[in-house]
Amino acid sequence: MHKPVIVCLDLEGVLVPEIWINVALKTGIEELKLTTRDMPDYDQLMKRRLAILDRHHLKLRDIQNVIATLGPLEGATEFLNWLRERCQVIILSDTFYQFALPLMRQLGFPTLFCNQLEVDDSGRIVNYHMRMQNPKKHSVAAFKALNFCTIATGDSYNDTAMLEEADAGFFFRPPEHLPREFPQFPVTQTYEELQERFTASGWLR
Ligand SMILES: [Mg+2]
Repeated sequence: MHKPVIVCLDLEGVLVPEIWINVALKTGIEELKLTTRDMPDYDQLMKRRLAILDRHHLKLRDIQNVIATLGPLEGATEFLNWLRERCQVIILSDTFYQFALPLMRQLGFPTLFCNQLEVDDSGRIVNYHMRMQNPKKHSVAAFKALNFCTIATGDSYNDTAMLEEADAGFFFRPPEHLPREFPQFPVTQTYEELQERFTASGWLR
């Protein structure tokens, strides 16, 4: 008999759209489109983003209202429901609980490990707090230490450490260059392909 399975899914790009890019599109604030590709230092990037929000007098509520107009990617809810019937599912994300909330509601509140924003009494976002360094990789390693079999799926650089750590790792709709750098992870483009990959492992219920 094999070990019980935990599937670890990235959030943005796998189940929901990229949050900051959509906030930029919906608010018309072009500078918010900056990503880690433009500014590799995440701390600098986040400080810059929070400064931009301040300059435009945008508070947490305003951003949440924008995020609430976004929905999960097409087919994501059905895929997640399918998966949760067959194994344990945990979403490992670098986003923040306060941002993810409107999307988690639409996904039926799956378990989410991410980070926190610090918000003052007026609703202004004053700082952000990462739970730890390398949280995705450490989460997968911890599940393995708890004797679970782990499968991971993500779309970006910040997912490759967890894909490496997991018993099986898959890319989902990655940017073109990523599979060239990490050819060891099979590429999937649709939820059907992911379902086939997971089923083929023979590990799901
Ligand atoms: Mg992602």
